Amino acid sequence: MTDADLLRSLGVDPSQLDPAPPWMPRQSAGVERLDGSHPCALCGEPARATVGVDTPGHGRRWLDRCMPCLIATTPRGGPRAPLADTLAVLREAACEAGVALTVVTDESYPAPVDNQRYHLVLTTDGKPVMRGWWPDLATAERKYLRWIGERGTRKGARVTLTDEADGGRVLKAWPDEDR
Ligand SMILES: [Zn+2]
Repeated sequence: MTDADLLRSLGVDPSQLDPAPPWMPRQSAGVERLDGSHPCALCGEPARATVGVDTPGHGRRWLDRCMPCLIATTPRGGPRAPLADTLAVLREAACEAGVALTVVTDESYPAPVDNQRYHLVLTTDGKPVMRGWWPDLATAERKYLRWIGERGTRKGARVTLTDEADGGRVLKAWPDEDR
C-alpha cells in the first residue's frame, strides 16, 4: 500500500496534515511530535505515533495517530500475512516513539511468509531490531530507502534487503561493506 492509498483508506485529507521534513534529519524528529500536543488525525485524541507520509500534491506530511487508531488502521498485506505486517507496523511505531517493544505471539516470528519474498532487516551492531516482508520488489525497495532515511542515523545501523525466493540472496545492503 502506498502512502497515498493509506491516506485515502483512512479518509484523511493530506492538506490538513502538518508538513514534515522531506528527509528525517535525526531519529528524534518524529519523537519530538509525540508530546501530546498533536491530535490523532482520525479521532482527535493525543497522538502516540507519527509517521512521515508522501502525499500527492502536498509533499511530505506527518500522519499522527493514537495507538488504538494506529492498530485499527494498520494496513494488512492480505489474509495470509497479517501477523508480520502488523508486527512491522508496531515495531515501526515503537521505534518512532523511542520505546522498547517486546512482542509475544502464539505464531512463530520472525518467519518468512508465503508470497512475501522480499525481506528487509534492520540491524544495530549485528542484532536484528526490525524486520518486514513484502511481496513486490518496488514496495520493498521503497521501504529500504525509508528505513535508511529514518533509522540510518542509529549507531551501528545496517539495512539489508534479501530475496527469499532466491535463497536469501542479498539484493541491497546499506551502508556498503567497503565504506
Ligand atoms: Zn485516534
